[in-house]
Amino acid sequence: MSRPGAGDGLAERLEGVRDRIERSASRAGRDPEEIALVAVAKTFPAAAIRTLAAAGQHRFAESYVQEAAAKQAELEDLDLEWHFVGPLQSNKAVSVAEHFALIHSVDRLRVARALDRYRTKRAPLDVCLQVNISGEVSKSGCAPEEAPELASRIAGECPGLRLRGLMAIPAPSPNPEAARPAFRRLADLQRRLRERAPQSPWDMLSMGMSADFETAIEEGATHVRVGSALFGTRSPKTR
Ligand SMILES: *Cc1c(COP(=O)(O)O)cnc(C)c1O
Repeated sequence: MSRPGAGDGLAERLEGVRDRIERSASRAGRDPEEIALVAVAKTFPAAAIRTLAAAGQHRFAESYVQEAAAKQAELEDLDLEWHFVGPLQSNKAVSVAEHFALIHSVDRLRVARALDRYRTKRAPLDVCLQVNISGEVSKSGCAPEEAPELASRIAGECPGLRLRGLMAIPAPSPNPEAARPAFRRLADLQRRLRERAPQSPWDMLSMGMSADFETAIEEGATHVRVGSALFGTRSPKTR
C-alpha cells in the first residue's frame, strides 16, 4: 500500500495493461495497433505522468481544467498528447480548446460552438460526442436518440471541430461483462451515424476503463481510457 509516485511499479503496470490490450485484440481478431491507450491521470501527480512517459506512454487524459493546467505546466518539456475527458462547460471552452488535442466529452451544441469559436485559427480540434448510453446513471452525455441531429449540426456549423466518433461511460460495475450491451449499443449507434453524417470520419470509439477495457476492445473500442489500472487506486475523496 504505497502512494503512487515516481518509480513505484508504474512501468510494470503499463506493461501489464499493454499485454492485456494485445491479448484482447487478438481474441477479437483485431490488430492491437488499432487500439490507443489513453492514460487517465486525474488526481495523480505530474511525477507519475513523467514516469509513464519515460516508459513510452504518449497519450494522457485529464478531467478538470485547473488540475490539468498545473500538471501541463510542470511537464512542458515533454511531448505528450493531452486529451480532455471530463464534464465540459462553455465557459471553460477557451482553455480546453487551447490546451488539449482531443476532447472526448462534447455532449451539447452550446459546448461544441464554444470550442469551435476558439479554434478557428488553428488546425481543427478533434472531438467525440459523449453519449449517455446506460440511461439515467449519468448526467453527462447526450441521449442516443439526440446524437444524429447533434452530429449533423456539429459537422455543419463548427468548422473548427472535427467530429471523430463517440464516447460513453456505462454504469460502473465490478463485473467486466456488465458493460458489454452498452458497448455494443454505442458501436451500433456509430455505424448508423456513419451512414447519416458521412462528412465526419467516425474512426474513433472511446470506451472501456480499468474494469472493462478488454470487453470494450472486443466490442470495437479504438481508445480505452485507463486510470487506476495504471496509476493505482484513486483516493475516494477526490473521486
Ligand atoms: C476517471 C475516468 C476514467 C478512468 O477510470 P478508471 O476506472 O480509473 O480506469 C476513464 N474515463 C473517464 C471519463 C474518467 O473520468
